[in-house]
This record gives sequence, structure tokens and C-alpha cells, in this order.
Amino acid sequence: SDHQLDYPISPSEMDWSKLYPHFYSDVEKGMLKKVTITDIGCGFGGLMIDLSPAFPDSLILGMEIRVQVTNYVEDRIIALRRNHSKTNGYQNINVIRANAMKFLPNFFEKGQLEKMFYCFPDPHFKQRKHKARIITNTLLSEYAYVLKEGGIIYTITDVLDLHKWMVNHLEMHPLFERLDEAWEAEDKCVKIMRVATEEGKKVERKEGDKYVACFRRIANPEII
Ligand code: SAM
Repeated sequence: SDHQLDYPISPSEMDWSKLYPHFYSDVEKGMLKKVTITDIGCGFGGLMIDLSPAFPDSLILGMEIRVQVTNYVEDRIIALRRNHSKTNGYQNINVIRANAMKFLPNFFEKGQLEKMFYCFPDPHFKQRKHKARIITNTLLSEYAYVLKEGGIIYTITDVLDLHKWMVNHLEMHPLFERLDEAWEAEDKCVKIMRVATEEGKKVERKEGDKYVACFRRIANPEII
């Protein structure tokens, strides 16, 4: 339960240097970069591993609620860093155990994030479980808070009903606008997201469909 979850009381209380030691400056006594990309419910971490070399100057954070899965991703990143120590590879990714449905504003400042990934989120098929879905109106307002203007929410799923649900909720929300297929076709993250995650690979093996939807965080409406 959440009682065992560690989370900072505010973003400034978070010690990021342990997660990304190469991005800590002894001279400036602080981090050179902030996290700008999140993989929500990152599972086994395949997305971060492929995003890492594509965005070498961005800090990428996976958030995962399952303890053992989080430990596995930690070990995986330690091994990758060791095997790529000559080139300082994979220093820009890491994972924390967190309930992303609850504590995001504890970790990130307003407008801090540039990209948020929701890859193959748990479908919670039953009607009475729908409120447990990771995209809901309330949560979207939180995601809009931590995303900067122009930032992107990426979603992918093999469950058509969940895809429609995510699209509906995002389309109804006043702070997001959908990006079209031409945009998706050009975006390198969409390419990576389609193939990199463990769940995506499973769907590939079963020759299942993958439904993608991407949304841009638009400006807050002016209050007249
Ligand atoms: N994104 C990965 C992929 O595509 O391979 C994993 C997909 S898996 C079906 C969904 C993941 O979300 C699980 O690992 C689960 O533990 C995690 N998860 C579910 N609810 C979460 C929450 N509230 N906060 C963080 N992670 C969560």
C-alpha cells in the first residue's frame, strides 16, 4: 500500500543526484538537468532503454508501482551503465517505485515535463474498475499541471475499448489537443514507443493491433 511508498513532500525535497549521479555538479552543488520525460507504469523498462540514446541530454524517469519490477529495472540499468561506462551510456535513465496516480506533483514542478508516456496501461476491463484507469479527468488535470505548454502525452494500447476511453477523456479535457496521424508518422518517440516496450513486444508476437494517440498540452485559457 501507499504507506510504504517514499515520496518527497515537494519537488525541491527530492534528491535526484542518487538517480542520475552523472548529472550532478559538485561545483554548483546541484543537478545540471531536471527530469523532463516520464514513463508512467514503465514495467520492465524497455521504453526508457530505447529512449536513452535518442535523448542523451534529457533525464528520463520510469515510475512503477510493483516492487519487484522496480528492482528488476534498477538492476537492469546498473548493468547497462556498467557495460557502457566508457561512453557514459544510460546515465540519463532511472526508475522509482511510485504510485503515479497519486504523487506526481510531489515529484515534479508545474510545467516541468516535456513528454509523458502511457504505454499499454492496465485495461481494468470491468465497468466498476474503470475509475482505476490511469487516464481520468482528475488525473488529466494533474498531468496537465506537471506538463509544460507544448508538452506531449503519448498513449498506446492493444485494447480498443481502453484506447477509446483515453482518447475520449483527453479530447474532453480543455488543456489537451489531439495530434494527427501525419504528426505521429514524423515523431521519433511514436516509432520507439510502438516497438520498445515489453508489453508491445508481446502484442507483436500475438500479431495484435496497437492503437496510438498523442495529445499536446495547450495553453491555459485566458481568464477575462
Ligand atoms: N509500460 C510497460 C510496457 O508497455 O511494457 C508496462 C505495461 S503493464 C501492462 C502496466 C504497468 O503499469 C505494470 O507494470 C503496473 O505495475 C504499472 N502500474 C499500474 N498502476 C500504476 C500506478 N498507479 N503507478 C505506477 N505504475 C503503475
